[in-house]
Amino acid sequence: MNKQFTMLKTNEEVRSRIKELAADISRDYASVIPENPLLLLCTLRGAVFFAADLCRELTVPCEINFLKVHSYQGTRPAGSPIFDLGESIDVRDRHVLIVEDIVDTGQTMDTVMQNFADKGAADIRICTMLDKPSRRYPHLKERVVPDYIGFQIEDLFVVGWGLDYNEKYRLFPDIMVYHPDADDGKDL
Ligand code: IMP
Repeated sequence: MNKQFTMLKTNEEVRSRIKELAADISRDYASVIPENPLLLLCTLRGAVFFAADLCRELTVPCEINFLKVHSYQGTRPAGSPIFDLGESIDVRDRHVLIVEDIVDTGQTMDTVMQNFADKGAADIRICTMLDKPSRRYPHLKERVVPDYIGFQIEDLFVVGWGLDYNEKYRLFPDIMVYHPDADDGKDL
């Protein structure tokens, strides 16, 4: 048995939670989406599967675009996140919903939100598949509070459903806890 991975959320659990989130988002935005469709901004690459499933469950008009964000090396943050904040994305007066895989220290979402606020977005909210509130930097505890959360989790390093460890394990169909030190000789 491979001891490096333990199940956290099954594929079925994630899919069913996405349906619930989509219902909440559709309800909340139904009255506030006037002329412009909701703009979903998916962070690459981790949130791509989550965003693809989420947007297809929404019942409000929406568009999707992508942001390149990279901040982890192995199981630890690499320092300052590296961003390509989508200079070409026009968010002025738009209702923006950032779709993220996981909020950890909060640094990534804080920088992204500030950037789009500066560019004149009408409203910016965060929908994250996973949230690790115990890892939030103290100064971001009140600033980075996701509006829609799939699951709150402990301080665990997880892979699958788009989440990677050095670009590995992203395609696992379930969300698994990764224990890098429990190496049993097999590397998937
Ligand atoms: P933050 O800026 O510290 O909130 O980090 C957010 C980013 O770190 C996420 O978009 C992920 O790419 C990465 N990350 C944080 N925790 C994990 C994890 O448990 N597994 C895989 N990636 C993670």
